[in-house]
Amino acid sequence: MEANDIEKTEDKRGLNFVEEIVFNDLKEGKNGGRLNTRFPPEPNGYLHIGHAKAICMDFGVAERFGGTCNLRFDDTNPVKEDVEYVDSIREDIHWLGFDWADREYYASDYFPQLFDLAVRLIKEGKAYVDDQSSEQIAAQKGSPTEPGQNSPYRDRTPEENLDLFMRMNAGEFDEGSRVLRAKIDMASPNMHFRDPIMYRIIKTPHHRTGTTWKVYPMYDFAHGQSDFFEGVTHSICTLEFVPHRPLYDYFVDELSDGTYRPRQIEFNRLNLTYTVMSKRKLLQLVKEGLVAGWDDPRMPTICGMRRRGYTPQSIRNFINTIGYTKFEALNSMSLLEHAVRDDLNRIATRVMAVINPLRVVITNYPEDKVEMVEMESNPEDPTAGMHSMPFSREIFIERDDFMENPPKKFFRLAPGSEVRLKGAYIIKCDEVIKDADGNITELRCSYDPDTLSGMPGASRKVKGTLHWVSSAHAVDAEVRLYDRLFSVENPAAETERDFREMLNPDSLKVVKGVKLEPFAAELAKTQGTKFQFQRIGYFTPDYDSTADALVFNRTIALRDSWEKEQKKG
Ligand code: ATP
Ligand code: MG
Repeated sequence: MEANDIEKTEDKRGLNFVEEIVFNDLKEGKNGGRLNTRFPPEPNGYLHIGHAKAICMDFGVAERFGGTCNLRFDDTNPVKEDVEYVDSIREDIHWLGFDWADREYYASDYFPQLFDLAVRLIKEGKAYVDDQSSEQIAAQKGSPTEPGQNSPYRDRTPEENLDLFMRMNAGEFDEGSRVLRAKIDMASPNMHFRDPIMYRIIKTPHHRTGTTWKVYPMYDFAHGQSDFFEGVTHSICTLEFVPHRPLYDYFVDELSDGTYRPRQIEFNRLNLTYTVMSKRKLLQLVKEGLVAGWDDPRMPTICGMRRRGYTPQSIRNFINTIGYTKFEALNSMSLLEHAVRDDLNRIATRVMAVINPLRVVITNYPEDKVEMVEMESNPEDPTAGMHSMPFSREIFIERDDFMENPPKKFFRLAPGSEVRLKGAYIIKCDEVIKDADGNITELRCSYDPDTLSGMPGASRKVKGTLHWVSSAHAVDAEVRLYDRLFSVENPAAETERDFREMLNPDSLKVVKGVKLEPFAAELAKTQGTKFQFQRIGYFTPDYDSTADALVFNRTIALRDSWEKEQKKG
């Protein structure tokens, strides 16, 4: 890409600091003017919203400046990895709206080259086999203020090291009995330079390479070199890798002739309130059955959010809002929810559903009459049009929308008061029917026949407007109401407590017998449909939903709905 093309791609939005670095590198013609990033997940779990931030950066910067982004599975630990995760990662990236074309790579593709490099470093006296246990090695590491101690095996000859390393890979030794270490400097002020481990013995078969290898490279010995082998120019990662960068450069320098070298750049992680982002903890929640699976709609995983009804656009908008910096922060779940609401408001089909139904009989409405009334499907979308909804003598309203002894500012239904049924008539409550225990079982109301749209009394104003459904036509559904997964704002910060104790016991509430208008029930047969249940919130059919037994997830509650309704009158 030519420098003036780059200038042209710049629009009014400011560049973030990573984009600025990339921009300048391109302008200076580094790496022959090439831009190649990568997203490097380890296939040891499902992706979460934190990964989405990295994906938006890695793919986004490439898109913006006409480069490419590889998908590279960092599959260096067969013990924890699985093809199930590989498949889910692919699906989630596509769902977010990004594509890697044919550039799908695996760190395991580079095992031969990495092994060759290790052999070369051994021959050059830059690596040695250590027979100590990981505990012994850790004990010699020193501290940031104190130098470490040399291993007693540090001065083995290259011949002996080579022989041992080959035998490690041939499976002659037990796991944990020996490692290959880089011979750098046990007194380095950077702890990562204190003879870092390059290879360890693992005998679990690998999901791609089977039993070919018995030694596996550590992250620090695989990542930079994999970037190099792939031609990656900008290796963008999170801030915890800052102290690894010198080691990244050290190994890359063993390969690069200087005309091209990948460069590591770090940005701040995404951390969200009321959830956890550690794959280890998420796996634990799944394994212990504390959630229904990786795609439980309360999980911070991409697949959980998809199932819950979040849109890719809302996730991308949220990530855009929080931006990329060099400082760790805790982002508010409310901000994500705001983005979700914003996008759903744009696209969701408006329907009526009564969550907690109360029967209303309209005594002056003919018994066998049914009228179809017209409802706007989405006022935010001019193409959405209208749909019809049946009105009849018996309807359901929300139990909360009636009060027998209302306070002053209660504008909904009460004995003797009037409300408008949205899209239909004004009704007045004449009588309250109760059972033997005094529970309200039914309301008797009368309607004003002159108040339907198009009639002279249509514009008559009353204070409240209620949603409703015709009882004879209503379709029953189950809804699942979700709340935050944890009751503590930052579970990761509470290091003294077991994170499982901080789970919100009320994070899932199941409500059955919800009454739905028929149009909604019909549309809900299509997975992924986004609904706004008027005055309640945004909902989507769950994967458990069938044509005979509808199940909905509440994606997010509708805030301020009541206030808005009041303003409309
Ligand atoms: P682990 O390495 O402990 O298994 P991880 O969350 O780092 O967990 P990876 O699969 O290695 O998982 O992550 C892939 C990429 O996603 C890395 O580049 C990593 O920096 C980035 N990433 C992971 N978590 C976040 C987060 N919370 N915010 C932003 N980026 C993240
Ligand atoms: Mg990682």
